[in-house]
Amino acid sequence: MEAKIYPWHQENFQRLVKMRETMPHAMVFHGPEGTGIEPFAFAWAKTLLCENLQKGQPACGQCSSCRWFDQGSHPDFVMLMPDALNDDEEGVPAAEEEDAPAKKTKAASKIIPINAIRQLHDFVGITTHRGGLRVILIHPVEAMTTEAANALLKMLEEPPAGTVFLLVTNQVGALLPTILSRCGKLAFPMPSREMALEWLASQEVDDAAMLLAQQGGAPLAALEASKGNANAKEQAAFLDCLSKPGLSASLKAAEDLQKLPVKLPITWMQRWLYDLASVHLAGTVRYHPDRLDMLTSLAGRLNLIKLMDMAKSVAQRRRVADHPLVPRLVLEDMLIDYLKLFAKRP
Ligand SMILES: [Zn+2]
Repeated sequence: MEAKIYPWHQENFQRLVKMRETMPHAMVFHGPEGTGIEPFAFAWAKTLLCENLQKGQPACGQCSSCRWFDQGSHPDFVMLMPDALNDDEEGVPAAEEEDAPAKKTKAASKIIPINAIRQLHDFVGITTHRGGLRVILIHPVEAMTTEAANALLKMLEEPPAGTVFLLVTNQVGALLPTILSRCGKLAFPMPSREMALEWLASQEVDDAAMLLAQQGGAPLAALEASKGNANAKEQAAFLDCLSKPGLSASLKAAEDLQKLPVKLPITWMQRWLYDLASVHLAGTVRYHPDRLDMLTSLAGRLNLIKLMDMAKSVAQRRRVADHPLVPRLVLEDMLIDYLKLFAKRP
């Protein structure tokens, strides 16, 4: 991961700089996906460790601490994340050697297991290598298993000296309240549309307004989508299926989409339902301006109360979506619920 502070996070950076001396030993950074909170947390960790810091500035990028950090080998920094997110191995504590070969063949884990937290005890048990702070970055915090969360809670209750915990999440409501209560909290805002568009323009993104709308205002997600959304074809097929609700098309869609991370179609469904409700109530859409006509015609046929119920149950599905036993069934269920929105009353 790259340490980076986006323009819409400058205010939060200055806020942290001001509170640095009185900063709680653990901070939760929370806010919407696709807005760059992880690279910010990474940049803040680098800043905390920088040995040549200028007042009000981020990490110098030149000192030996910064160089170690950039190489992913800073001895006083640990980043914990699920294997599935870990595309570059940087900054992750060494896995136990004996199961390293096996690890390559099994599917990357989407959780942070208790072992990862246990290894932190060794990390915090020794004096810091550079004589400064020690920083532990965990993201996303909700990926911790219950056992891991409880082990972390114990550490937060008796915080090791000179150690800063940075916990990143897009779902602050999913954290244990006992963990939250021991942390300072910093909310990361969705950037204004104007700021997001300006930034996307600086990245030479075409169709920025459309992509930004499709990604719910999240600029990094829009940039990612502009680089050729790897799943653009699947998404279009899914939206076609939602545009013409029918049983056989729904079953086929569930079949076709089961190979994707199930969170994706669930997110697409959430956005589609949002737009249906929005058209029904206000005649406007947020995510699919290119399908306004279809949404308007569907909204005229649907049962709004059922739609609201469905939106709730889809949000619940999304929360547990990391570990479905049979993704196809989850998708089938969801699509059949969707068909029911348009069923005529008996
Ligand atoms: Zn530095």
